[in-house]
Amino acid sequence: MPAHPSLTASPVKGDLITPLETMGRNEPCWCRSGLKYKKCHLDREKQAPVNIFEVETRLIAQLREGYCSHPDPSSDPCSPKITKAHTVQKKGGITAIAEAGHVLTVKPTMKDMIESEGHPSPRKIGINKASVFPGFCNKHDTALFKPIEGKALSLNKDTAFLFSYRAIAYERFAKEAQFKAIAAQREMDRGQSFFHQGLIQTHLNVFAAGVQVGRRDMDRWKAQFDARLLSGCRDDFHFLAVRFDTVLPIVASSAFHPEFDVQGNPLQRLGRDGADLDHIALNVTAFDGQTIMVLGWIGNADGPAQAFADSFMKVAQDRKADVLVRLLFLQTDNLFLRPRWWDALPSTQRHVFKNMILSGSTMQARSAGEYVDEGTSVVAAAAIETVSG
Ligand SMILES: [Zn+2]
Ligand SMILES: [Zn+2]
Repeated sequence: MPAHPSLTASPVKGDLITPLETMGRNEPCWCRSGLKYKKCHLDREKQAPVNIFEVETRLIAQLREGYCSHPDPSSDPCSPKITKAHTVQKKGGITAIAEAGHVLTVKPTMKDMIESEGHPSPRKIGINKASVFPGFCNKHDTALFKPIEGKALSLNKDTAFLFSYRAIAYERFAKEAQFKAIAAQREMDRGQSFFHQGLIQTHLNVFAAGVQVGRRDMDRWKAQFDARLLSGCRDDFHFLAVRFDTVLPIVASSAFHPEFDVQGNPLQRLGRDGADLDHIALNVTAFDGQTIMVLGWIGNADGPAQAFADSFMKVAQDRKADVLVRLLFLQTDNLFLRPRWWDALPSTQRHVFKNMILSGSTMQARSAGEYVDEGTSVVAAAAIETVSG
Protein backbone atom coordinates (compact mmCIF):
# COMPACT_ATOMS: atom_id res chain seq x y z
CA MET A 1 0.00 0.00 0.00
CA PRO A 2 1.34 3.51 -0.79
CA ALA A 3 1.90 5.48 2.43
CA HIS A 4 -1.23 7.39 3.40
CA PRO A 5 -0.71 11.20 3.04
CA SER A 6 -1.68 11.76 6.69
CA LEU A 7 1.48 9.94 7.82
CA THR A 8 3.72 12.70 6.49
CA ALA A 9 1.38 15.72 6.73
CA SER A 10 1.95 18.32 9.43
CA PRO A 11 -0.24 18.25 12.54
CA VAL A 12 -3.32 20.46 12.60
CA LYS A 13 -2.35 23.54 14.60
CA GLY A 14 -3.94 23.47 18.00
CA ASP A 15 -5.90 26.62 18.63
CA LEU A 16 -5.74 26.93 22.40
CA ILE A 17 -7.98 29.25 24.34
CA THR A 18 -6.61 32.06 26.49
CA PRO A 19 -8.36 32.25 29.85
CA LEU A 20 -8.95 35.85 30.95
CA GLU A 21 -9.47 36.83 34.54
CA THR A 22 -11.68 39.67 33.52
CA MET A 23 -13.22 41.05 30.35
CA GLY A 24 -16.09 43.24 29.11
CA ARG A 25 -19.44 42.01 30.41
CA ASN A 26 -20.98 41.80 26.96
CA GLU A 27 -17.98 40.34 25.12
CA PRO A 28 -18.10 36.69 24.02
CA CYS A 29 -16.63 34.66 26.88
CA TRP A 30 -13.00 33.47 26.62
CA CYS A 31 -14.09 29.83 27.07
CA ARG A 32 -15.83 29.84 23.64
CA SER A 33 -19.17 28.73 24.99
CA GLY A 34 -20.72 31.30 22.68
CA LEU A 35 -22.27 33.08 25.66
CA LYS A 36 -21.59 36.61 26.82
CA TYR A 37 -19.04 36.88 29.61
CA LYS A 38 -21.66 38.09 32.09
CA LYS A 39 -23.74 34.96 31.42
CA CYS A 40 -20.76 32.63 31.60
CA HIS A 41 -17.45 33.00 33.44
CA LEU A 42 -18.06 36.29 35.28
CA ASP A 43 -17.83 35.38 38.99
CA ARG A 44 -17.73 31.67 38.17
CA GLU A 45 -15.63 30.93 41.25
CA LYS A 46 -18.56 32.20 43.35
CA GLN A 47 -21.17 30.08 41.56
CA ALA A 48 -22.61 26.97 43.19
CA PRO A 49 -20.75 23.84 42.02
CA VAL A 50 -22.74 21.60 39.69
CA ASN A 51 -23.73 18.14 40.75
CA ILE A 52 -22.28 16.07 37.95
CA PHE A 53 -24.55 13.14 38.68
CA GLU A 54 -27.53 15.39 38.01
CA VAL A 55 -25.87 16.49 34.78
CA GLU A 56 -25.36 12.87 33.80
CA THR A 57 -29.00 11.99 34.52
CA ARG A 58 -30.15 14.94 32.44
CA LEU A 59 -27.90 13.89 29.57
CA ILE A 60 -29.09 10.31 29.62
CA ALA A 61 -32.70 11.50 29.46
CA GLN A 62 -31.81 13.75 26.54
CA LEU A 63 -30.16 10.87 24.67
CA ARG A 64 -33.19 8.63 25.05
CA GLU A 65 -35.02 10.85 22.59
CA GLY A 66 -33.40 9.34 19.50
CA TYR A 67 -34.31 9.36 15.82
CA CYS A 68 -34.46 6.94 12.90
CA SER A 69 -31.23 6.61 10.92
CA HIS A 70 -32.93 5.31 7.78
CA PRO A 71 -31.69 7.44 4.85
CA ASP A 72 -34.93 7.85 2.93
CA PRO A 73 -38.01 7.98 5.17
CA SER A 74 -39.86 10.06 2.55
CA SER A 75 -40.29 7.10 0.20
CA ASP A 76 -40.36 4.53 2.99
CA PRO A 77 -42.04 6.18 5.99
CA CYS A 78 -40.96 5.43 9.56
CA SER A 79 -43.21 3.82 12.15
CA PRO A 80 -44.05 6.22 15.00
CA LYS A 81 -42.01 4.49 17.67
CA ILE A 82 -38.24 4.82 17.93
CA THR A 83 -36.95 1.55 19.26
CA LYS A 84 -34.04 0.55 21.42
CA ALA A 85 -32.07 -0.87 18.51
CA HIS A 86 -29.47 -3.46 19.45
CA THR A 87 -26.08 -2.90 17.82
CA VAL A 88 -25.33 -6.54 18.58
CA GLN A 89 -28.40 -8.72 18.06
CA LYS A 90 -29.93 -9.85 21.34
CA LYS A 91 -30.98 -13.37 20.39
CA GLY A 92 -27.95 -15.56 19.97
CA GLY A 93 -25.51 -12.61 20.09
CA ILE A 94 -25.71 -10.86 23.46
CA THR A 95 -27.51 -13.82 25.04
CA ALA A 96 -24.74 -16.20 23.92
CA ILE A 97 -22.37 -14.53 26.41
CA ALA A 98 -24.90 -13.56 29.10
CA GLU A 99 -25.16 -15.06 32.58
CA ALA A 100 -28.45 -14.69 34.47
CA GLY A 101 -29.56 -12.07 31.95
CA HIS A 102 -26.45 -9.92 32.37
CA VAL A 103 -23.23 -9.11 30.55
CA LEU A 104 -20.43 -6.67 31.41
CA THR A 105 -20.04 -3.30 29.71
CA VAL A 106 -16.77 -1.34 29.67
CA LYS A 107 -18.60 1.98 29.27
CA PRO A 108 -18.19 3.69 32.62
CA THR A 109 -20.62 6.01 34.34
CA MET A 110 -19.23 9.31 35.63
CA LYS A 111 -19.47 7.88 39.13
CA ASP A 112 -17.32 4.88 38.13
CA MET A 113 -14.79 7.20 36.53
CA ILE A 114 -14.43 9.32 39.64
CA GLU A 115 -14.43 6.51 42.17
CA SER A 116 -11.84 4.50 40.25
CA GLU A 117 -9.72 7.60 39.52
CA GLY A 118 -9.99 7.07 35.79
CA HIS A 119 -9.51 3.28 35.70
CA PRO A 120 -13.04 1.88 35.97
CA SER A 121 -13.78 -1.84 35.92
CA PRO A 122 -16.40 -3.30 33.58
CA ARG A 123 -19.84 -3.29 35.19
CA LYS A 124 -22.94 -5.45 34.90
CA ILE A 125 -25.72 -4.49 32.54
CA GLY A 126 -28.99 -6.25 31.65
CA ILE A 127 -29.21 -7.72 28.14
CA ASN A 128 -32.16 -5.49 27.26
CA LYS A 129 -29.98 -2.45 27.86
CA ALA A 130 -26.70 -3.78 26.51
CA SER A 131 -25.62 -2.38 23.15
CA VAL A 132 -28.87 -0.50 22.48
CA PHE A 133 -29.28 2.96 20.99
CA PRO A 134 -32.48 4.77 19.95
CA GLY A 135 -31.27 5.07 16.37
CA PHE A 136 -34.00 3.38 14.32
CA CYS A 137 -37.78 3.26 14.26
CA ASN A 138 -39.33 -0.15 14.97
CA LYS A 139 -40.18 -0.78 11.36
CA HIS A 140 -36.79 0.04 9.85
CA ASP A 141 -34.86 -1.69 12.61
CA THR A 142 -36.76 -4.91 11.88
CA ALA A 143 -36.85 -4.63 8.09
CA LEU A 144 -33.28 -3.48 7.47
CA PHE A 145 -31.50 -5.98 9.68
CA LYS A 146 -33.65 -9.07 9.20
CA PRO A 147 -30.94 -10.90 7.19
CA ILE A 148 -28.51 -10.63 10.14
CA GLU A 149 -30.97 -11.37 12.94
CA GLY A 150 -31.77 -14.99 12.17
CA LYS A 151 -30.52 -18.15 13.81
CA ALA A 152 -27.82 -18.88 11.29
CA LEU A 153 -25.83 -16.53 9.12
CA SER A 154 -24.23 -16.81 5.73
CA LEU A 155 -21.09 -14.74 5.39
CA ASN A 156 -21.32 -12.68 2.21
CA LYS A 157 -21.08 -9.12 0.97
CA ASP A 158 -24.72 -8.29 1.68
CA THR A 159 -24.73 -9.47 5.28
CA ALA A 160 -21.32 -7.85 5.86
CA PHE A 161 -22.73 -4.60 4.52
CA LEU A 162 -25.66 -4.66 6.94
CA PHE A 163 -23.40 -5.28 9.95
CA SER A 164 -21.21 -2.39 8.86
CA TYR A 165 -24.16 -0.11 8.16
CA ARG A 166 -25.56 -0.64 11.65
CA ALA A 167 -22.17 0.01 13.24
CA ILE A 168 -21.79 3.25 11.29
CA ALA A 169 -25.31 4.39 12.27
CA TYR A 170 -24.45 3.67 15.90
CA GLU A 171 -21.10 5.49 15.82
CA ARG A 172 -22.72 8.52 14.28
CA PHE A 173 -25.33 8.52 17.02
CA ALA A 174 -22.61 8.15 19.67
CA LYS A 175 -20.59 11.05 18.25
CA GLU A 176 -23.64 13.29 18.35
CA ALA A 177 -24.23 12.26 21.95
CA GLN A 178 -20.63 13.20 22.82
CA PHE A 179 -21.17 16.54 21.16
CA LYS A 180 -24.36 17.24 23.11
CA ALA A 181 -22.58 16.32 26.32
CA ILE A 182 -19.97 19.03 25.81
CA ALA A 183 -22.45 21.82 26.50
CA ALA A 184 -23.20 20.33 29.93
CA GLN A 185 -19.51 19.78 30.69
CA ARG A 186 -18.84 23.49 30.18
CA GLU A 187 -20.47 24.12 33.57
CA MET A 188 -18.21 21.71 35.43
CA ASP A 189 -15.87 24.44 36.70
CA ARG A 190 -18.49 26.35 38.69
CA GLY A 191 -17.15 27.31 42.09
CA GLN A 192 -13.54 26.55 41.09
CA SER A 193 -10.59 28.93 41.09
CA PHE A 194 -9.71 30.88 37.95
CA PHE A 195 -6.67 28.65 37.48
CA HIS A 196 -8.77 25.48 37.50
CA GLN A 197 -11.38 27.07 35.25
CA GLY A 198 -8.60 27.63 32.72
CA LEU A 199 -7.40 24.03 32.93
CA ILE A 200 -10.87 22.53 32.63
CA GLN A 201 -11.95 24.74 29.74
CA THR A 202 -8.68 24.22 27.85
CA HIS A 203 -9.02 20.45 28.15
CA LEU A 204 -12.66 20.66 27.10
CA ASN A 205 -11.90 22.77 24.03
CA VAL A 206 -9.23 20.33 22.85
CA PHE A 207 -11.70 17.48 23.38
CA ALA A 208 -14.47 19.40 21.59
CA ALA A 209 -12.24 20.02 18.56
CA GLY A 210 -11.62 16.26 18.30
CA VAL A 211 -15.32 15.48 18.61
CA GLN A 212 -16.09 18.01 15.85
CA VAL A 213 -13.68 16.28 13.47
CA GLY A 214 -15.13 12.91 14.45
CA ARG A 215 -18.65 14.12 13.80
CA ARG A 216 -17.73 15.45 10.38
CA ASP A 217 -16.14 12.11 9.47
CA MET A 218 -19.11 10.15 10.77
CA ASP A 219 -21.52 12.25 8.69
CA ARG A 220 -19.41 11.58 5.61
CA TRP A 221 -19.20 7.82 6.26
CA LYS A 222 -22.90 7.55 7.00
CA ALA A 223 -23.70 9.38 3.74
CA GLN A 224 -21.48 6.95 1.81
CA PHE A 225 -23.19 3.95 3.38
CA ASP A 226 -26.66 5.47 2.89
CA ALA A 227 -26.07 5.91 -0.84
CA ARG A 228 -25.07 2.23 -1.20
CA LEU A 229 -27.93 1.03 0.98
CA LEU A 230 -30.42 2.80 -1.30
CA SER A 231 -28.77 1.92 -4.63
CA GLY A 232 -27.87 -1.64 -3.70
CA CYS A 233 -24.44 -1.06 -5.26
CA ARG A 234 -21.67 -2.83 -3.35
CA ASP A 235 -18.83 -2.34 -5.85
CA ASP A 236 -16.60 -0.30 -3.58
CA PHE A 237 -17.72 -1.96 -0.36
CA HIS A 238 -15.22 -4.53 0.88
CA PHE A 239 -15.29 -6.97 3.74
CA LEU A 240 -13.47 -9.67 5.60
CA ALA A 241 -15.48 -12.15 7.66
CA VAL A 242 -14.02 -14.80 9.92
CA ARG A 243 -15.87 -17.60 11.66
CA PHE A 244 -14.46 -19.13 14.86
CA ASP A 245 -15.02 -22.69 16.03
CA THR A 246 -16.63 -21.62 19.31
CA VAL A 247 -18.36 -18.71 21.02
CA LEU A 248 -15.88 -16.08 22.20
CA PRO A 249 -16.71 -14.40 25.54
CA ILE A 250 -17.02 -11.01 23.84
CA VAL A 251 -19.34 -9.25 21.37
CA ALA A 252 -19.01 -5.76 19.91
CA SER A 253 -20.09 -3.33 17.23
CA SER A 254 -17.98 -0.35 16.23
CA ALA A 255 -16.42 1.73 13.48
CA PHE A 256 -13.09 3.52 13.68
CA HIS A 257 -10.13 4.99 11.79
CA PRO A 258 -7.48 2.26 11.63
CA GLU A 259 -4.30 4.02 12.81
CA PHE A 260 -2.10 0.93 13.12
CA ASP A 261 -2.45 -2.55 11.71
CA VAL A 262 -2.43 -5.56 14.03
CA GLN A 263 1.35 -5.91 13.60
CA GLY A 264 1.80 -2.32 14.80
CA ASN A 265 2.59 -0.74 11.40
CA PRO A 266 1.26 2.83 11.03
CA LEU A 267 -1.58 3.14 8.52
CA GLN A 268 -2.81 6.72 8.87
CA ARG A 269 -2.61 9.43 11.50
CA LEU A 270 -5.39 11.46 13.07
CA GLY A 271 -5.12 15.20 13.59
CA ARG A 272 -3.15 15.84 10.41
CA ASP A 273 -3.89 18.24 7.60
CA GLY A 274 -5.06 17.06 4.22
CA ALA A 275 -6.36 13.73 3.03
CA ASP A 276 -9.57 12.08 4.18
CA LEU A 277 -9.08 9.13 6.48
CA ASP A 278 -10.24 5.59 5.82
CA HIS A 279 -12.65 4.00 8.24
CA ILE A 280 -13.58 0.45 9.00
CA ALA A 281 -16.53 -1.17 10.79
CA LEU A 282 -15.88 -4.09 13.10
CA ASN A 283 -18.64 -6.36 14.37
CA VAL A 284 -18.25 -9.41 16.53
CA THR A 285 -21.22 -11.54 17.46
CA ALA A 286 -22.34 -15.13 17.81
CA PHE A 287 -24.54 -17.34 15.64
CA ASP A 288 -25.38 -20.93 16.28
CA GLY A 289 -22.58 -21.70 18.71
CA GLN A 290 -19.85 -19.86 16.78
CA THR A 291 -18.47 -16.33 16.87
CA ILE A 292 -18.40 -14.31 13.67
CA MET A 293 -16.15 -11.31 13.07
CA VAL A 294 -16.97 -8.94 10.22
CA LEU A 295 -14.78 -6.08 9.01
CA GLY A 296 -16.41 -3.83 6.40
CA TRP A 297 -15.39 -0.60 4.66
CA ILE A 298 -15.96 1.59 1.64
CA GLY A 299 -12.84 2.65 -0.19
CA ASN A 300 -9.86 1.85 -2.34
CA ALA A 301 -8.39 -1.62 -2.68
CA ASP A 302 -4.98 -0.28 -1.56
CA GLY A 303 -6.00 2.04 1.28
CA PRO A 304 -5.45 1.81 5.06
CA ALA A 305 -8.68 -0.17 5.66
CA GLN A 306 -7.66 -2.88 3.20
CA ALA A 307 -4.17 -2.97 4.74
CA PHE A 308 -5.74 -3.35 8.17
CA ALA A 309 -7.84 -6.32 7.00
CA ASP A 310 -4.80 -7.86 5.26
CA SER A 311 -2.78 -7.63 8.45
CA PHE A 312 -5.49 -9.49 10.33
CA MET A 313 -5.46 -12.19 7.65
CA LYS A 314 -1.73 -12.71 8.24
CA VAL A 315 -2.32 -13.69 11.87
CA ALA A 316 -2.12 -17.45 12.47
CA GLN A 317 -5.53 -19.17 12.63
CA ASP A 318 -5.06 -20.12 16.29
CA ARG A 319 -3.99 -16.56 17.30
CA LYS A 320 -6.76 -14.66 15.50
CA ALA A 321 -9.21 -14.83 18.42
CA ASP A 322 -6.67 -13.42 20.90
CA VAL A 323 -5.62 -10.69 18.50
CA LEU A 324 -9.29 -9.83 17.99
CA VAL A 325 -9.96 -9.52 21.73
CA ARG A 326 -6.99 -7.15 22.08
CA LEU A 327 -8.23 -5.13 19.13
CA LEU A 328 -11.69 -4.74 20.62
CA PHE A 329 -10.38 -3.40 23.91
CA LEU A 330 -8.22 -0.93 21.98
CA GLN A 331 -10.82 0.29 19.53
CA THR A 332 -14.28 0.41 21.05
CA ASP A 333 -16.25 0.84 24.24
CA ASN A 334 -19.35 -0.66 22.62
CA LEU A 335 -18.18 -4.10 23.66
CA PHE A 336 -19.67 -6.63 26.05
CA LEU A 337 -18.09 -9.41 28.05
CA ARG A 338 -19.14 -12.67 29.61
CA PRO A 339 -18.91 -11.97 33.36
CA ARG A 340 -17.30 -15.28 34.36
CA TRP A 341 -14.62 -14.92 31.70
CA TRP A 342 -13.62 -11.46 32.93
CA ASP A 343 -13.65 -12.52 36.59
CA ALA A 344 -11.42 -15.52 35.85
CA LEU A 345 -8.70 -13.47 34.12
CA PRO A 346 -5.51 -12.89 36.11
CA SER A 347 -5.64 -9.42 37.67
CA THR A 348 -2.56 -8.37 35.69
CA GLN A 349 -4.43 -9.18 32.47
CA ARG A 350 -7.53 -7.27 33.60
CA HIS A 351 -5.25 -4.33 34.30
CA VAL A 352 -3.79 -4.54 30.76
CA PHE A 353 -7.29 -4.52 29.25
CA LYS A 354 -8.45 -1.65 31.46
CA ASN A 355 -5.52 0.41 30.18
CA MET A 356 -6.32 -0.50 26.58
CA ILE A 357 -9.82 0.93 26.98
CA LEU A 358 -8.23 4.35 27.47
CA SER A 359 -6.23 4.11 24.24
CA GLY A 360 -7.05 6.90 21.83
CA SER A 361 -8.67 9.04 24.52
CA THR A 362 -7.44 12.50 25.46
CA MET A 363 -5.62 10.78 28.32
CA GLN A 364 -3.66 8.30 26.22
CA ALA A 365 -2.51 8.57 22.59
CA ARG A 366 -2.43 5.39 20.54
CA SER A 367 0.90 3.70 20.04
CA ALA A 368 2.17 0.96 17.74
CA GLY A 369 3.24 -1.27 20.62
CA GLU A 370 -0.33 -1.64 21.89
CA TYR A 371 -1.26 -3.49 18.70
CA VAL A 372 1.53 -6.05 18.67
CA ASP A 373 0.47 -9.55 19.71
CA GLU A 374 2.41 -10.49 22.85
CA GLY A 375 1.32 -14.11 22.56
CA THR A 376 -0.79 -14.11 25.74
CA SER A 377 -3.77 -16.42 25.51
CA VAL A 378 -7.09 -15.30 27.02
CA VAL A 379 -9.44 -17.26 24.77
CA ALA A 380 -9.29 -20.72 23.24
CA ALA A 381 -10.65 -20.61 19.71
CA ALA A 382 -9.46 -21.12 16.16
CA ALA A 383 -10.58 -19.44 12.97
CA ILE A 384 -12.23 -22.02 10.71
CA GLU A 385 -13.71 -20.02 7.84
CA THR A 386 -12.67 -16.84 6.09
CA VAL A 387 -14.68 -15.01 3.44
CA SER A 388 -13.68 -11.74 1.82
CA GLY A 389 -14.69 -9.61 -1.13
ZN1 LIG B 1 -17.23 31.10 29.67
ZN1 LIG C 1 -37.49 4.63 10.34
